[in-house]
Order: sequence, then structure tokens, then C-alpha cells
Amino acid sequence: MKKKPNNFKYKLTDEQYIITQEHGTERAFSGKYLNFKEEGIYNCVCCNSELFSSKTKYNSGTGWPSFYEPIKSGSIGKNIDQSYGMIRTEVHCIKCKSHLGHVFPDGPEPTGLRYCINSLSLKFKTNKS
Ligand code: FE
Repeated sequence: MKKKPNNFKYKLTDEQYIITQEHGTERAFSGKYLNFKEEGIYNCVCCNSELFSSKTKYNSGTGWPSFYEPIKSGSIGKNIDQSYGMIRTEVHCIKCKSHLGHVFPDGPEPTGLRYCINSLSLKFKTNKS
């Protein structure tokens, strides 16, 4: 396993680094936010930008935390990803470019989208004070 450089700008674990900076994917059903149901905001694990609200989280059955929409339209960027012989849409934090996961057109209403996100790219912040 490749380790992150010592001078990397964000404090990440090696696993978080591989997912967010090297476009890794955590093992299905392994992520800490998969069955997590608290109310609050999911921030970028790198730069702390707000990315998703718990209000749009749903159980997709795929093994990764899934959301039907980002917290703001401008919070997430998209790229075409043609790796592994598939054509997918990669999603990343617009502010720091960290890789989050992919978005697929098989989500629930009202958007019909499924943002399939690695738990390791997120940091949850509760609404409770
Ligand atoms: Fe970020």
C-alpha cells in the first residue's frame, strides 16, 4: 500500500488519502457511514466543505452511502471516468478536488440520481449542539 507523502496538506489516514487523492474505492459494505442515520451534514474529509445533508441520504443497497442530491449545486464537480472498461461520472469536492465517488442515473425522486460516496471521503457533523 502506497503511503501518503509526509508533506501532504491535509491530515488524512493512509486509507483516506488513497480514496480521496488516488481515486480509490472502499470495499462495499465496509464504510462507517453506510448505515449511519444521524441528522446533520457530511463534510469533505480534506477541506471541510459541506457536501451532503443527511436529509438526502437513502439506503441504495449497493454497499456505499448514497445520496440523491448534493447540499448545494455548486459543492460538487463531475468528470467522465473511463477506467475499468466502464463509462461513469466521477464526483469530487469542487473546492479541493478530492475524489468522493460516482453518480449514477438510478436514484430515487426527486432527482433520479444516486451519489455513491465513499465513507472515507466524508466527515459527519451533527446538527445537535
Ligand atoms: Fe474538499
